[in-house]
Amino acid sequence: KSILYVVATPIGNLQDITLRALEILRSADAIAAEDTRNTTRLLNHFAIGAKLIAVHEHNEYQSATRLIEMLQSGKSVALVSDAGTPAVSDPGAYLVAKVREAGLRVVPIPGANAAITAFSAAGIIAPHFLFYGFLPHTASERKRELAALKAMPHTLVFYESPHRILASMADLREVLGGTRTVTIARELTKIFETIHTCTLEEALEWLEADSNQQKGEFVLLVSGAEVAKEEGIGEEAQRILQLLLAEMP
Ligand code: SAM
Repeated sequence: KSILYVVATPIGNLQDITLRALEILRSADAIAAEDTRNTTRLLNHFAIGAKLIAVHEHNEYQSATRLIEMLQSGKSVALVSDAGTPAVSDPGAYLVAKVREAGLRVVPIPGANAAITAFSAAGIIAPHFLFYGFLPHTASERKRELAALKAMPHTLVFYESPHRILASMADLREVLGGTRTVTIARELTKIFETIHTCTLEEALEWLEADSNQQKGEFVLLVSGAEVAKEEGIGEEAQRILQLLLAEMP
């Protein structure tokens, strides 16, 4: 009691809900949802009747106060978003912060997440990645952000919507260069799931060749910057190189 459960829900295939998530959604006194219609569909599928409260980016402040009062009166609340793990590129972080600030317990119920799902099936051997999430909507801001990420040696993980996939892909190619590898993970866990790897040079053409490939939801995994070989030369080697260069005609 008096616990805020942060409950991950599926990113497409409803079978991906966990047993623990179902148990919490059944037993919680209220479910705080990003979009109550969306969550109603999920709850109906599992025959769960529950009291829903809308918590989205436009009412996060007011709803946090109300939910904290509920928690303080001994009730339990389950927080869900439209898909995947709440507070990851989703509303919910503000509520979680306020609940923690109020000294109340927050319990995560882990489950699906689009970035991790894409990463698991991409076959990327490099161990480190940087989760970026959504790039800005305007081209100039997007290019500025990408320029700031250009030197990172880690795989870059982006979320993208069908409205901006072509524009973002063009900007990735322009700012990061065509030789990097991109894995395009689309509609994960759904009927038209596609996981395609190519270079940034090839990616735009691949997307444009089939308009179906531009539909749905995307995770993009872009390989990091190549670490310059010269940086690997030790100080002693540098010294010898300088000596040799000085001797050259
Ligand atoms: N909280 C979610 C999570 O844990 O992954 C992310 C929510 S964010 C508002 C929605 C974005 O996640 C989509 O635009 C897309 O980039 C990505 N996404 C969600 N579901 C996906 C799926 N089934 N396949 C590919 N990408 C998906």
